[in-house]
Parts: sequence; C-alpha cells; structure tokens
Amino acid sequence: MRVKRIKLREIFATNSKKTLEIELETEKVRVRSSVPLGTSKGKFEALYLSTSEAASKFVFIKNKFLSQNFNSQEEVDDFLHSLDRTENFSEIGANLALAISSAFLKAFAAENHQEVFEFLSKEKAKMPRPICNIVGFKGSGDVEEYLLLPVHQTSFRENMEKIMQAYLKVAELLKIRDPSFSFTKDLESAWFTRLSLIEILKILTKVSNEFLLKIGLDFAASHMWDGKQYYSYSMNNYIFSTQDQLNFVISLARKFPIFYIEDPFNQEDFVSFSVANKQLSPKLICGDDLLATNVKRLKDAIDLKAISSAIVKPNQIGTISDTIKFVKLAKENKIFTIMSHRSAETDDNLICHLAVGLGCDYIKVGTSGERVSKINELLRIEEILNK
Ligand code: PEP
Ligand code: MG
Repeated sequence: MRVKRIKLREIFATNSKKTLEIELETEKVRVRSSVPLGTSKGKFEALYLSTSEAASKFVFIKNKFLSQNFNSQEEVDDFLHSLDRTENFSEIGANLALAISSAFLKAFAAENHQEVFEFLSKEKAKMPRPICNIVGFKGSGDVEEYLLLPVHQTSFRENMEKIMQAYLKVAELLKIRDPSFSFTKDLESAWFTRLSLIEILKILTKVSNEFLLKIGLDFAASHMWDGKQYYSYSMNNYIFSTQDQLNFVISLARKFPIFYIEDPFNQEDFVSFSVANKQLSPKLICGDDLLATNVKRLKDAIDLKAISSAIVKPNQIGTISDTIKFVKLAKENKIFTIMSHRSAETDDNLICHLAVGLGCDYIKVGTSGERVSKINELLRIEEILNK
C-alpha cells in the first residue's frame, strides 16, 4: 500500500482538551483515525506528547511514510518502532504513533473492502459483553467506577437494553436516597452522587438483582496510594494499610454481587493482586494500570497468577500490533480480555472493531451522552455478524 498523503490534525476530545487525528490517503482510499486521552493514567503507560510537540515531531517523520510501500500492519508498526527505539515512544509520542498505526489499519481494511473487525479476523470475531460505567468519580482519588455487567450473553443488544434500563433505574434510586443528586455525570457519563461507597453498592445490588446483572468496581487504587503505606479514599474517609485494603476488597466482594474488580491495589503490588486473585476466584481480578497493555508486565502478572482478566487500551502501548500481541498472550493464558474506552474519547469507534475482531471477552464503555457512539457501533457490528 502506498501513501499519497498523510496529514495530522488537532481535534477535541470529550474532556474539551486537544488530541490528535491522522488523515491518511492511499491510492485507493481515504481514512481518519484519532486517539483518546486518559485521566487516571498509569505510571507504565507509553508516553503521550502534547499535541503541539507531536505536531513538531510529525514534520520530521511525515515524508518517510510517503516514500515507503507498506504491505502489512506489522511493517507499519515495525517502522514506527524504528523511528522511535524507546520502550515507551518517548521520542515521537504514543499518541502520534497510535494515530498513525490505527489509520493504517483502517486503510488496509478499506482497501480490502472490509470492515476493520472483518479485516482483523472473520474467524475469531465475536461480540464482547458490555461492562458499563454507571456511577463514577473519575479522577477523584476514590473508587472511580461502579460498573454493571452481564454474566451471560445471548446477544449484545439484549444485554445493552438491560444495562440501559438499569442505568436509568439507578438514577431514580439515587434521587430518592441522595437529596443533593441532580443527574450530574462524571467525565464518562456515569452518575455522580454524594452517597457513600456502601450506599452506592446497596443501590447497585438492588438494581443488579432486578436486571440479572453483576457489579464491577474499578478502584484505580494507584491513585489512592500514598507511595509508601496507605490507601486513602478521598470521599469515604477510609485510610487503609495494604492488609486493610486486601481485607476490605475481599469483604466487599463476598458481601455484594460483585464479579469484576479492577486495579484494587497499587500498580506495582503484584503480590496483593495474587492474594486477591486466589481468594476471590472465579471472580474477575483485572489489571489496568498494573499491566498498561504491556506484554512484559502481562507476562509477570501471569507468572505470579496476579490477575484473571486484563484491560486492553491501545493508547497505553502505542501500536495496533503491540495491542494484538497483548491480547494474544492473554488468550493463550486464559486471561479474559476487556477492550476499554478512555475517560476522554473522540468520535472514533475503532475500539469496537478491535474488541470484536480480536475476539475480546468484554468491552468497557459508558452508557449515555457521547458514549453511546461506541454502543451503537457495536449494535451495527452485531447485525453484520448475524447476517
Ligand atoms: C480506567 O481507569 O479504566 C479509565 C477508563 O480511565 P482513564 O482513561 O482515565 O485511565
Ligand atoms: Mg481502570
């Protein structure tokens, strides 16, 4: 495939900050691809440059893409790694790398007259189950996400219908129990409330029982960790040692219908993850900041039996090929894979195609506002798969 034109553009993400979009024109097709932004980012994620820094790097590498012939995604991504030999894309930025890498993926698919998920793999393609952020405190330094997920899936549409009704029911119950509740939402369109963690869990228990769903929690615990000894919950006034945190996580998981637990400990504490994983199996203990979509960190987590599921965020690692390797390694080791949006998204729905085409078990998305764009794309994909 030959590139006729490659252009970088600054666009806005859903948190009103600038992000990158690449427009790529080959002899046959024209595609666009943009990258999301994280708020509670992990320490081990590949490096994002500011959009202006990325733009100045792009000036130097742009022409290199015009003089090459690319035959596969691996060639494109190897080329990106040859332009930036650092482990975390600190030279050209993981945002620029992923915008280019994902634009090529779309171009390969389009030149083949295929949807991206079909191009990735028609054989492996399957609809992921939704994990949806219902009550949220993004960037707060407390449990960041209270999620709902199904246990079984007849169809994605059916599960989404249940979760949407549950999301609205939660708001009704919040209105009754929290006098200050005014349908305010956080960055991911999850409800914001002043109720305590336990009160929220009681509401979610009621709703999950009614709609036959389970509860998930993203502790994002690295952001509660003081770097030495304690986890402090900014809104619930708990201060826990590592042992207290472990006991707390285990007791919550046994008391409430919680099936999914993401980042319950600091991103360097593989050992506590392992203890929780052993004690709470078969519930899903998931690494997000812990793994940062990084194959090396996933290998360590597998060796230590630290997790049973892994968040997949392409922008944590910077290329499509690295994302594919991560999913492959997880699958080979029977680790459930959860493709995930970021707290600031764009109108780009590529993660839906990646989730389906790579055969991920789950996809983590939001349930209202601009977030429905991902859900609607998945409904369309399900229709194509059912044909
Ligand atoms: C998360 O932590 O799972 C998340 C989606 O948030 P962010 O994009 O801010 O890392
Ligand atoms: Mg997370």
